[in-house]
Amino acid sequence: MSDLDYPGDLLGFASDLTDAERSKLAELRHHLDTHVRPLIVDRWERAETLADIRRPLAELHLLDDPSVCDAEGALRPIYRGFITLELARLDLAVSIVYGGQVGMFRRVIHAGGSPEQVAAWDPGILDFSFTGCLALNEPDHGSDIAGGLSTTARRVGDHWVLDGAKRWIGNATISDNIVVIARELDGPRVLAFVVAADSVGLGRSVIEHKAVARMVHNADIVLDGVVVPEERRLPRIESFADMTRVFRPLRADIAWSSAGMQLGAYAAAHAYTTQRVQFGRPIAGFQLIQDKLVRIVANIAQTLALAVRTTTHPIQDDVSPSLIKIVAADRLRESVALARESLGGNGVLLDHDVVRFFADAEAMYTFEGIREMNTLIVGRALTGLSAFVR
Ligand SMILES: Cc1cc2nc3c(=O)[nH]c(=O)nc-3n(C[C@H](O)[C@H](O)[C@H](O)COP(=O)(O)OP(=O)(O)OC[C@H]3O[C@@H](n4cnc5c(N)ncnc54)[C@H](O)[C@@H]3O)c2cc1C
Repeated sequence: MSDLDYPGDLLGFASDLTDAERSKLAELRHHLDTHVRPLIVDRWERAETLADIRRPLAELHLLDDPSVCDAEGALRPIYRGFITLELARLDLAVSIVYGGQVGMFRRVIHAGGSPEQVAAWDPGILDFSFTGCLALNEPDHGSDIAGGLSTTARRVGDHWVLDGAKRWIGNATISDNIVVIARELDGPRVLAFVVAADSVGLGRSVIEHKAVARMVHNADIVLDGVVVPEERRLPRIESFADMTRVFRPLRADIAWSSAGMQLGAYAAAHAYTTQRVQFGRPIAGFQLIQDKLVRIVANIAQTLALAVRTTTHPIQDDVSPSLIKIVAADRLRESVALARESLGGNGVLLDHDVVRFFADAEAMYTFEGIREMNTLIVGRALTGLSAFVR
């Protein structure tokens, strides 16, 4: 089994992990290095999904191994964070194909569902026999989705009829279920439905020609009179404020993913620059290259500090997630550019890793609210003035 070291974590945040957590994470790294890393370059180039890596990852029991759970079965937030970091350190898509299910989808079921729904679906969510994703964004409403939601839900007897469209939905074509967020047609509520992906009237098509996060298949979804039983509505989501409550704890994941991607880019840049010889010496011996490596490590420290802070001070407001997103996106963008530069021409070849992180940083910059919208949220909190509309 491989050692669990984190070159680039200069402040030693990983030392807060327990021996049992380190051992479990080392098991994960060994699995990724042995079974997933060898697939990555070809899959990325061909834009093929990683759906087949999900079951073997579930079989590692990262989330329910008694060695890392307390008496109530709970995990320490820092351990959960390092799982996300470890997956993203290999590739953003690896983290999305796993975390979209056991993070995003599981969270929406747990926080929005009834106790009966949770009991019925949770075992299948954990072992990936009941897969799902979240569909919020729409073709005509991205940044303004909170006020612009146009997918509708109409109550007819003991079921609902959904009409509308969704866009950019990650994992949608490899999921059995799609949590569709819709506006009640005859009322004020925003509702969430666990829609079976093979429902009559539901169409899914992969968005082609995507240059970022290529192994994540993002889909356009059309809902044309899709019938959903009331039992598949999540009863604890009835407004956008409920959505915010549901997703608040997940907002730290953006910092963990960003830190993981920066650590991956740093490892690639360090490995290359200590080997590549120009002007008769390894290029890592030149001040300009060292400056890049040091700036990446400083960015990692800032991003990790923010991520670890959320483990001791859980997010309870609606402004700090935006600040986290801004720092995570900015530090990531800078780090992956510095890493790419350090490799010269080879930096644009998939064989040397950094160009995947370079491209995928743009996905992270955009999803779950583009960085600029988060700036407007923090700006409004600081000034009391909303700059969203003129
Ligand atoms: C790779 C990828 C994966 C995604 N995965 C998912 C997913 O799984 N589920 C999901 O629901 N969604 C997903 N999304 C959608 C994502 O959340 C949206 O793309 C994002 O919220 C931005 O919306 P938009 O693309 O419509 O951009 P727009 O809202 O059209 O924005 C375009 C530009 O205009 C700027 N802008 C807009 N309004 C203002 C304003 N008031 N003031 C100043 N500037 C403004 C924005 O900052 C941006 O620069 C994904 C997107 C991508 C690219």
